[in-house]
Amino acid sequence: MGRIAVLGWLGLVVIAALAGPAGAQVELPPPVYRVSMGASYDPATQQLEGVERIRWRNTSSAPVDELQFHLYLNAFANNRSTFMVGSGGQLRGIEMDEKRWGWIEVAAMRLAYGSELAAEGLPPELAADPFAAPLAPAVPGEPGPPRFEGRPDLKAVEEFIQPDDGNPEDRTVARYPLPRPLAPGEWVELEIEFSAQMPEIFARTGAHRDFVLGGQWFPKIGVFEDAGMRGRAEAGWNTHQFHANSEFYADFGDYDVQLELPARYAGRIGATGRMLSEEVEGDTVRARFAQEGVHDFAWTADPRFLVVEDRFDPERDVPAEQAEAVARVLGVPVDELRLQPVAIRLLLQPAHRGQAERYMEAAKVALRGYGLRLGAYPYETLTMVDPPRGGFGAGGMEYPTFITLGTHPLLQVPGFTRLRAPESVTVHEFGHNFFQGMIASNEFEEAWIDEGMNSYYEAVVMDEHYGGMIELFGMRATSFDLDRLQLGDGAYRDRVAQPAWSYRTSGSYGLNSYARPAVTLRHLEYLLGPETFHRAMRRFFQTWRFRHPSTADFESIIQEESPGDLSWFLEQALHSDRSLDYAVRSVRSSRQPEPRGWFRDEDGELSLLGELDRPHGIGEPPPGSEDTGEQEAEQPGEEDDADDRPYITEVIVDRLGEFVHPVTVELVFEDGARMRRSWDGRDRWVRFRIERPARLVSAEVDPQQLMTLDVDPLNNSRRLEPERTPAAKVLVHLMFWLQNLFALSAVVG
Ligand SMILES: [Zn+2]
Repeated sequence: MGRIAVLGWLGLVVIAALAGPAGAQVELPPPVYRVSMGASYDPATQQLEGVERIRWRNTSSAPVDELQFHLYLNAFANNRSTFMVGSGGQLRGIEMDEKRWGWIEVAAMRLAYGSELAAEGLPPELAADPFAAPLAPAVPGEPGPPRFEGRPDLKAVEEFIQPDDGNPEDRTVARYPLPRPLAPGEWVELEIEFSAQMPEIFARTGAHRDFVLGGQWFPKIGVFEDAGMRGRAEAGWNTHQFHANSEFYADFGDYDVQLELPARYAGRIGATGRMLSEEVEGDTVRARFAQEGVHDFAWTADPRFLVVEDRFDPERDVPAEQAEAVARVLGVPVDELRLQPVAIRLLLQPAHRGQAERYMEAAKVALRGYGLRLGAYPYETLTMVDPPRGGFGAGGMEYPTFITLGTHPLLQVPGFTRLRAPESVTVHEFGHNFFQGMIASNEFEEAWIDEGMNSYYEAVVMDEHYGGMIELFGMRATSFDLDRLQLGDGAYRDRVAQPAWSYRTSGSYGLNSYARPAVTLRHLEYLLGPETFHRAMRRFFQTWRFRHPSTADFESIIQEESPGDLSWFLEQALHSDRSLDYAVRSVRSSRQPEPRGWFRDEDGELSLLGELDRPHGIGEPPPGSEDTGEQEAEQPGEEDDADDRPYITEVIVDRLGEFVHPVTVELVFEDGARMRRSWDGRDRWVRFRIERPARLVSAEVDPQQLMTLDVDPLNNSRRLEPERTPAAKVLVHLMFWLQNLFALSAVVG
């Protein structure tokens, strides 16, 4: 983090300290950039014309000699882009419509250095703080402020780059060399004219008939990372290409955006942030939205939207018992968990009218579920978009203060209302306002921080409120059950923490970014205990909120909060493809056999126990000859009477996976005794041998079921068969013989 940012943060700390009691409003981050944008969208051609005015500052400690922008829509420009090659033209089961490609084109990028503007005399508010002063409104087709006249146009030096794969057909990242480097702390202002063609809805963005979802739709500045940030050695741009299996990474800024559409969209436009105004003029409607402290801006419009508005009111919508319960776990006064009111706006398809209340309830469940545990949602609005049939490719996606959902009319039919898909998508997408809306991790490089942490909290919040994610035909599965089920047999082919585009398949990306890390966090919760774990997670969130943490930053907070070293766990769970599976392989428990053979007594005298049918050894007395009476007492058939020979119990536990984990094994005996043994789990197997007066009933690995990463819980325990009577033994032998006979006849037949 650079100088200005550090000063910004110090300022924030001071403000936070002055702000009074704990639980006061969360301060939004100081902007790295301010954007004022104007875009007019024509649903007939599904094209938009835009102007983006952006004031960007170098918050690093190194000079910046070029600017880099994402031009995401070019992922859909042809079938040779890195996205299209990687996805095979489909994402989440939805195919790209090859008759409706999308693209984005920068027409002009005029540049002014802040220092030059200052020399020419800045307006006072701009001179005082260029990042508090508003930008001139941007309206396509209207001339901007004269300050750009005669300035250089970076379009002339635009160059597409492919930092990840060198694919020359990929035009999703462009670099614009600057005429002279931008010193640390210095700022520039750009006026970018662009046009874009929305694709047919695909991979979160595009248009379907009258419905439009503007995601990744404007030239988006990359992140210039300072040395030391997320472990990097030297300062530089982090601007990845758009890949099939990756989401995004961006800095925080303040947005002010005006959208222009045909008048029939009036009242049916939604976007990131607060709506400042909506005006109809002739046959167009202009809606203006603003939001500070966010790293992206998305919008939507559909003349058929049904608008449902509600409000999250912490006084009414947070049950006191729930807040107190969370406060107890976190060990903080309940006052510290105070949440803020939020205006919720749901843009719903008329066919899903019957599900409005389900979406709304889920939004409130999520607002309090995440907010109490991690910290208040700091924004005033939440906009929820329900895409139409044919537009599902835009569903299930998160943008700051703006999420897209998805449901089906069938889910309002009695019997299917407890298939909680609309609830879980709402909770999940809302949760992304925390991970990565506020955490703003690098989703290209470490998707699990975003998807994995969010999936963990989704399960916590869903299961706490609804109990079951699916309750159908008498079956019930929680969200967490579904995560665990996805681990399958644990044949991972990738690590949890690795670049999103480097997974073997999209399935492997999904498994390692969502379910596996979610289950890993639950495992960690059980290792640390819920109190320590939730405190650590809250501390991680609040320490790194608005600051782009890496996996290593997460690990160091967990290590600091953990009473013992956890590197062995974190290394295997996050940085290896090892799966965890311990199993009880065999259990045996039987009476110690009667002594038979030659034994020496305390005086060193040899004596024979049992009988011989041949002469005894030379030079020894004929033992046993005078003691036959004693041995007769040990004749078979009488052994059950008053027998105090102990039971010898042997349990073998196997390590079937590569993941090495300390293991507890619980042994239960017929006299009711329970005994726990621990094992460091390193070797491939271990044998426990116990001598006790009672016979073993069962042996179980991980009796408290804390090792949630264990991919086969069914092999964790074994019961010993009851001792068989002689008749039962005969039956077993007969069955074995018959089986062999059948097997043989089957082969012959
Ligand atoms: Zn997600």
